[in-house]
Amino acid sequence: MLPVITDSAPAPAGPPRSVRRAEVADRDWHNWRWQLRNMLTTAEELAGVVDLSIGERDGLSASAHLFRVGLTPYYASLMDPRDPTCPIRMQAIPRAAELDIRAEELRDPLGEDTHHPAPCVIHKYPDRALLLVVDRCAIYCRHCNRRRLVGGDAPPTTDDLDAGLEYLARTPRIRDVLISGGDPLLMTTEKLAGIVGRLRAIPHLETIRIGTRIPVVCPMRVDDELCAALRRFAPVFINTHFNHAKELTPESRAACERLVDHGIPVGNQAVLLRGINSSTRSLRALFRGLLRSRVRPYYLFQGDTVIGTDHLRTPVDAAIELYGSLRGWMSGMCIPHLVIDAPGGGGKLPIGPDYIVERHADRVVVRTYRGQLVDYPEARDKDVTVAYDRVFFAGVPEDDDREGGDELAAL
Ligand code: SF4
Repeated sequence: MLPVITDSAPAPAGPPRSVRRAEVADRDWHNWRWQLRNMLTTAEELAGVVDLSIGERDGLSASAHLFRVGLTPYYASLMDPRDPTCPIRMQAIPRAAELDIRAEELRDPLGEDTHHPAPCVIHKYPDRALLLVVDRCAIYCRHCNRRRLVGGDAPPTTDDLDAGLEYLARTPRIRDVLISGGDPLLMTTEKLAGIVGRLRAIPHLETIRIGTRIPVVCPMRVDDELCAALRRFAPVFINTHFNHAKELTPESRAACERLVDHGIPVGNQAVLLRGINSSTRSLRALFRGLLRSRVRPYYLFQGDTVIGTDHLRTPVDAAIELYGSLRGWMSGMCIPHLVIDAPGGGGKLPIGPDYIVERHADRVVVRTYRGQLVDYPEARDKDVTVAYDRVFFAGVPEDDDREGGDELAAL
């Protein structure tokens, strides 16, 4: 079994433990192991930090068997204690609507289980693969698309992980591995660095990414030791998951900046969640705040069709309209790709406003972000061949552009 620091051991018998910020000693609050040991998992515990609404109480009792509940005291401290529409509450506390499951909702909306060539590995795209190293998280997000896999009690074994790594090593098409789960940053630094080190030793793996919500929900985990350990295996990228500007606290921003200071680029994959961030104002504040925190907005996902999440999905037309209220109105550096991850494993498909409104032989008519129609003259020559490819990629197979000729090797 992989040693994962997620033992949600029952609270010791005795008076109820306090998880309110004001009642916890600083040394505990800033200790990530304390945060994980003291995750809130029950209605009684949540009622100690917020005034639970009837809808939340119903959701907590009704959805218990559907997908577990859990969040760190740190993340709970961000909740508005009185307002159940708080975006932190809506991401962490279930509503009864989770049980209102539609026929088209799926346990495995992205078809990952059919692209599962080895234990711990999902290999859906030609040159990228997922390595699932843990099954626990520091929050159980109500919109999670992998709820069938996380929050269980069957973490990957060492043998599973070895088999997964062997598959990656014998599959040279894979250049990019995303370490995911669950949340890989729940592992000890030593164990995580061990996995990253084994990946880095595979010659054809160019990029190693780690998907994690830890900077959002347990930023104290991102300490110098972790950052320094990951730095040794550069390039390593972090993909994190902020969904609302309320999550951009001084602590979470410092965690992201610590990673960046150690040479680890941080990108953000947000989910467009109805009633949580589905407004122009929310999205602009989120993406601008991320950029100020040195985090690059990367994806904005339409919600996946996973069971029990229909109430959190945003209609596609509304999503496109929202996206149109971002592009052009704020720096392109702030604008993520709006994508639908196609059900069944079709992959990520960008969607957005159609900026080309007419096509002619000699021009296209484009619509600007302000709604003006402008002619864009077509180029007269249509041949787009790059003649120098014959030199630069001499001797390289057509479907393999990793290496050029001597020119690239000399760069
Ligand atoms: S942290 Fe990620 S994997 Fe875990 S519940 Fe949230 S969305 Fe799912």
